[in-house]
Amino acid sequence: MSFNQTPPTLGNQYTDDRVLRSYLKRVLPPEMLSEIEPSLMEMGRLSGGELYRMQLADRLNEPLLTQWDAWGNRIDRIELTPLWRAAERLAAEHGVVATAYERKQGQFSRVYQCALAYLFTPSTDIYSCPLAMTDGAAHTLLSSGNQSLIERAVPHLTTRQPEEFWTSGQWMTELTGGSDVGLTETIARKSADGVWRLYGRKWFTSATTSQMALTLARPEGNEAGGRGLALFYIEMRDESGRLRNIQINRLKDKLGTRKVPTAELTLEGTPAELVCGETDGVRNIAPMLNITRLWNGISAAALMRRAVALALDYARKRIAFGATLIEKPLHLDTLAGLQAEAEAAFHLAFYVAEMRGLSETGGIDEDESLVLRLMTPVMKLTTARQAVHVASEVLESFGGAGYVEDTGLPVLLRDSQVLPIWEGTTNVLSLDVLRALGSDASRTLQVLKTKVSDWVETARDDRLKSAARICLSALTHAESWLMLARQEDGSAMEAGARRFALTLGRAVSLALLVKHARWSFENEGDERAAAAARRFSSAGIDLLNAQEMDDARLLVNESSTR
Ligand SMILES: Cc1cc2nc3c(=O)[nH]c(=O)nc-3n(C[C@H](O)[C@H](O)[C@H](O)COP(=O)(O)OP(=O)(O)OC[C@H]3O[C@@H](n4cnc5c(N)ncnc54)[C@H](O)[C@@H]3O)c2cc1C
Repeated sequence: MSFNQTPPTLGNQYTDDRVLRSYLKRVLPPEMLSEIEPSLMEMGRLSGGELYRMQLADRLNEPLLTQWDAWGNRIDRIELTPLWRAAERLAAEHGVVATAYERKQGQFSRVYQCALAYLFTPSTDIYSCPLAMTDGAAHTLLSSGNQSLIERAVPHLTTRQPEEFWTSGQWMTELTGGSDVGLTETIARKSADGVWRLYGRKWFTSATTSQMALTLARPEGNEAGGRGLALFYIEMRDESGRLRNIQINRLKDKLGTRKVPTAELTLEGTPAELVCGETDGVRNIAPMLNITRLWNGISAAALMRRAVALALDYARKRIAFGATLIEKPLHLDTLAGLQAEAEAAFHLAFYVAEMRGLSETGGIDEDESLVLRLMTPVMKLTTARQAVHVASEVLESFGGAGYVEDTGLPVLLRDSQVLPIWEGTTNVLSLDVLRALGSDASRTLQVLKTKVSDWVETARDDRLKSAARICLSALTHAESWLMLARQEDGSAMEAGARRFALTLGRAVSLALLVKHARWSFENEGDERAAAAARRFSSAGIDLLNAQEMDDARLLVNESSTR
């Protein structure tokens, strides 16, 4: 008989997740955890069982755009895959968006919601995309104070009834740019009947099957740039289900996120409502981005967790050179590094969820607001880069099988690769981090350092102390680098922004790991979180080494001399 390899399998994704369970035990009041645990257990069961099997079976299905019917009518209908149709129903029923708005867990409602999303995401092929935008739209409308839109849309976006549930799109990117949205070309014209109508092309619109969207357009006559844009609300279809002056030109042929129907649209007089005023659209859509960036970080942590869970399971089954891979010191060491990255990303993403929950329930003070503003882009960009690295290594950890599509593994890498691109690329968010520091950067950094010192200074274990030192010294270096770069011409600071932001991200992740490690050791007698902190501390925290702008220019120069 020839040999057949046993494939990797998954158990209940909640019960099996030490990091999630230990974290929830630390942050949630015990009676709250007992109350919500059955729903997490159920989501974990679905995610490691029925949904995972459905995901593997759905592998070759993709959304289908039909532009014309048999009788010559333009219909632009998108058919979703069976996995996504199931995901939509399950997301509503399990309150993957609703939990954050029901607020039954007060300031911890976001943490609970993010835990559900974290379990749900890896088995639903980026259904997190429409959910993130739905959540972001509900949050944006609620912050807008536009009572009629709040009453019209928010109940649909936050319901648990699948038949009532709406998802939302977020249409910002145009051909002129996704980063520089100030260049938006879509025009808004107010017609004689007082209705605003939008004319233009939207270049990337995911979840085009949504019932509504928030978008940017420039009211005719408004100034150029971001200030001249306004935020608009659109309902996609009329009562008979026809698209309201929207043409779906085509679905994008993408590297990953293949289940997401990302379309190019033309708006040909699409009726729209102003959300809050005729200007400042970029500022007014910011609440949406805060939520979608949180989802991005939670998804990054979730995909890493899935990838590492599969790699660990496989390493216990696959035999090479007379032993299982897990018994091979080098393979074990490789996987340990990935586990540490995944744990670091988990704590960073959930820290932002905690802060977001505090902010939404009015419990956040001025200092914490500064930290939340700073850490949202830092967390998004840091975890997204980690996800790509981890997914790539996990594919390698399966050898050739990791490169073969019907193992269901390559999609992990293809889907992770979108995380650093959408919702702001790494560079664009790094520049946002500089903006988040504001004019009083040293105060903001001081607030962050005080928090971090509180978390790490309690570390008594000698080996954790060294991790704590690495973290504090990275933050101190980041601060002094920034102060120095500010004195030079603008290009030095801009050129180093990414390494600066990643240093903040990795240092704060390490601090959170140390904080959790101490708690876990003292309350659970578990050494594993400490091992993650120690391992992560040696994986490159301070990235601000002495690279200079001149070197950068030289490196990408076409000739060998300046
Ligand atoms: C699968 C998928 C789905 C998407 N869905 C949506 C959607 O639903 N709605 C939506 O609005 N958008 C969507 N997008 C678009 C996405 O948000 C943009 O592609 C992204 O924001 C980058 O914009 P861009 O493509 O115009 O790239 P550019 O802005 O042209 O960026 C190109 C490169 O230049 C860098 N760069 C840009 N400016 C600077 C700077 N000042 N300094 C240094 N570097 C800089 C960037 O980091 C990047 O590496 C989607 C994209 C993908 C891939």
